[in-house]
Amino acid sequence: MSSETWTIRKVLTWTAQHFEKRQVDSPRLTAEVLLSHLLNMGRVRLYVDLDRPLSKEELAAYRALIERRMAGEPTQYLTGTKEFYNRPFKVDARVLIPRPETELLVEAALHALPKDAPSRALDVCTGSGCIAISLAAERPQASVTATDLSPGACALARENAEALGVAGRLTLLQGDLFAPLPPDARFALVVSNPPYIASGEIPGLSAEVRREPPLALDGGRDGLDLIRRVIQGARRHLEPGGLLAMEIGETQGAAVKELLQAAGYENARVEKDLERRDRLAFGTHPVATGPRG
Ligand code: GLN
Repeated sequence: MSSETWTIRKVLTWTAQHFEKRQVDSPRLTAEVLLSHLLNMGRVRLYVDLDRPLSKEELAAYRALIERRMAGEPTQYLTGTKEFYNRPFKVDARVLIPRPETELLVEAALHALPKDAPSRALDVCTGSGCIAISLAAERPQASVTATDLSPGACALARENAEALGVAGRLTLLQGDLFAPLPPDARFALVVSNPPYIASGEIPGLSAEVRREPPLALDGGRDGLDLIRRVIQGARRHLEPGGLLAMEIGETQGAAVKELLQAAGYENARVEKDLERRDRLAFGTHPVATGPRG
């Protein structure tokens, strides 16, 4: 950029073209989102103020954001926020950026929690806390427990719970899946979006996804390591009739359905996302009939 006057209009046009050449996704939108973040004004406001010139300092700061974005840093890490289920979540490189597919998991999981009675839900691999916090916010009588192996994720999930007003009903435990729970803890719902990408596929992912924590992505050789362990562990922590709801990879539907059936779940089923790819898997903990042996 030269030393002439750079208005919002001009900066956005230049940046969108630059992003387009460098094959950054949604070039114009990304330019606007980053500028509205930097200037601390809504995107609509940018259009009202198209002729406002940027100061030297603003230009320098914006240029730094553009460079980080072109180097592969996700837009959401640069702005520090991502909307999920209609609420803003803080995000940074300690956690996976919440995805729209995962909103479908929340939507389905909510059916297992009554609207006007107390209930208990567990979210393992909570990351930013987006699932656990959405459930708590949508079900004001629910108590939600969330675990994550990463201390950084737990710290950020706690910040999100506080900012979104559900910290009093969210128990956050740092540790591996079910390990931090009391052995007799039982839930009406166990939900998880575990890491499910096969290790061998990770090097081929986009630069942006490779900025996300490997711990949040890597599901082992066939991508199913964590899913297997969630299926096993949830058996011990679901109430009779309780629901296990998981997000899975698009090629994993048949395998996960089999794993659920082999582990003794009832009504094992797989559902697709909006792009018609297998994305969600469910199973119900059998209700014990007859005396327990
Ligand atoms: N539960 C979080 C999410 O769905 C994090 C998932 C993960 O880190 N694998 O975004």
